[in-house]
Amino acid sequence: MPNAFKVARIGGIDIFVHWTWLLAFAFVTWSGGDFYQQQFKHWGPGTAYLVGAVSAILLFLTVLVHELAHSFTARAHALPVKTIYLFIFGGVSNLPQEPDNPRTELLVTVAGPAASLVLAGLFFLLYAVAQHGPSQVYAIFAYLGAVNLILALFNLIPGFPLDGGRVLRAIIWLITKNLRRATRIASSVGDAIGYCFILGGLIEAFLFGQVVSGIWLAFIGWFLHNAATATYQQAMVDRLLLGIDVRNVMDPAPFTAPPDLPIEALIYRHLLTENERAVPVIDPDRDLIGLVTLSDARKVPREEWSIVPISRIMTPVDALRTVMPGDTLREAMRVLAEHSVNQLPVISDGRLVGMLNRAHVVRYLHMRQQLEAAAASGRGPRL
Ligand SMILES: [Zn+2]
Repeated sequence: MPNAFKVARIGGIDIFVHWTWLLAFAFVTWSGGDFYQQQFKHWGPGTAYLVGAVSAILLFLTVLVHELAHSFTARAHALPVKTIYLFIFGGVSNLPQEPDNPRTELLVTVAGPAASLVLAGLFFLLYAVAQHGPSQVYAIFAYLGAVNLILALFNLIPGFPLDGGRVLRAIIWLITKNLRRATRIASSVGDAIGYCFILGGLIEAFLFGQVVSGIWLAFIGWFLHNAATATYQQAMVDRLLLGIDVRNVMDPAPFTAPPDLPIEALIYRHLLTENERAVPVIDPDRDLIGLVTLSDARKVPREEWSIVPISRIMTPVDALRTVMPGDTLREAMRVLAEHSVNQLPVISDGRLVGMLNRAHVVRYLHMRQQLEAAAASGRGPRL
């Protein structure tokens, strides 16, 4: 997730906050302050909004506990989690791979709302204990108890990818033993729930005059709809990529160039005639020493292209992202996306053994999809 900054590291998991979380913080401070002002008229607005801000920060921490519950449960089931993102609608634990059986999915998912429920109970208990103390303190406890209860219940709405939707998917998966069908059903339900939220929000805003909370609800609905669609597509791509390694998709015999080749020769011999976007630079032992692209040529004035060797303009191997032939295609795609590069040299023991670029991956996925569609309609080749 771009535009996120790291705020902490807990148990080996990096915690990132996306800038949109600041909007959530402002909204919670404002709505919390409003609520407190109505409940405790003697506080005055300054105290009410200050307590609202403290509540927002504590709420942020309880959302984090919810996510950590998912992450640590995942880790206990051999699914490593490296990052947690907190953004406008809460948090996301980034699992690099989905659980491979419905039981694990169920456990990892239920851990989050369970943590929120426990927190709700804890805060209600603290509220009961602190009831005769300062009103600012027990008000926060009551607020956090209520919000965590809502958080647990909201997350249990069966709209994939909300926790409830994941629970629904795991149950369908358990029954049908078919992850694909389960994902399709759960994300359609999620999509439908997203539309209900949008409709409900608009009704609230325009029929009942609750503009801010109505728009907020519609906004959540729109997010749910988008997330349901994206999760479904991601799940389908993951499935197509399952069991595919870089070596199955890479170009095993890419054009290469020696380091002393003049820029001019590279451009006219490789980039223009062969329509390559990037050419790996290798030494006589086929060891990769760099990668050169058309845009690198702009570093040197045109009249020097016939004399300057490409080793002067290439990106050296140390600064390159590379993959190995046995890496999974999914991992390679993650690297392509994360570093916004178009191609990755494939390296084995320092030697160049192939090139993987986006076009290869897209072509491959397209082909797989066509083959599957043909097989599903019974028109596939029968061998
Ligand atoms: Zn959750």
